[in-house]
Amino acid sequence: MEKGTLLIVSGFSGAGKGTLIKRLRELHDEYALSISMTTRAPRPGDVDGVDYFFVTKEKFEQTIAEDGLLEYANYVGNYYGTPKAYVEQCRDEGRHVILEIEIQGALQIKKKFPEAKLIFVTPPTAAELRRRLEGRGTETADVIEKRLSRAAEEAEGVENYDYIVVNDDLDTAANRIHEIATKEEAKDVSSFIHIIEQVKEDLKDHRKGE
Ligand code: ADP
Ligand code: 5GP
Repeated sequence: MEKGTLLIVSGFSGAGKGTLIKRLRELHDEYALSISMTTRAPRPGDVDGVDYFFVTKEKFEQTIAEDGLLEYANYVGNYYGTPKAYVEQCRDEGRHVILEIEIQGALQIKKKFPEAKLIFVTPPTAAELRRRLEGRGTETADVIEKRLSRAAEEAEGVENYDYIVVNDDLDTAANRIHEIATKEEAKDVSSFIHIIEQVKEDLKDHRKGE
């Protein structure tokens, strides 16, 4: 059986990654979603074993020592990593596996698995990013400001990705991801990188205006 595709999805916080992956999995049932391990505290609504495996720093470091993670990174003071066994099992069954991870981890995956497809999701504009973060209603105004300030850093290294997907219309973006996962096509970030540059630029102006 042909191995499933390893699909990495990254992007600005609030770009719509979670929503997009959910929609993709509603439209197509051959996708599995890897559940990460993290040392960050659960947020209200987070369910252990569904959103993340919430573990102590000791347990996380033990898993690193046992070579149980495909990749891991430290993000804003906490560890995040991808348990190896589930990803390998799903891929062996021919299912496509999605990893929703940040950029440092994504680049580790690319080194280990050159066949992985790295996708960076962006909203069409910085104003829309703000609207989505505010609309989600899960963070305080202070956290939203911090996430917007971080957004430019979150795109650091995006030129090493394989594809950029603009999440404007949800179904169009979900179908685009399916197309990338299932078809062989030339890698292309250059056609859309201007959108990321524009979002970064607008966020800078927003910071100046504070
Ligand atoms: P992320 O996982 O990237 O942080 P979310 O999936 O939580 O982002 O989405 C952030 C907010 O944006 C949510 O309120 C979601 O409903 C909304 N959203 C996501 N995709 C779209 C879209 N294509 N059009 C409009 N709103 C969207
Ligand atoms: P959050 O705390 O908001 O859930 O996630 C913070 C960041 O960590 C997001 O950019 C998310 O994509 C990333 N992340 C989640 N799981 C993993 C993982 O297993 N590995 C890496 N490298 N990043 C992850």
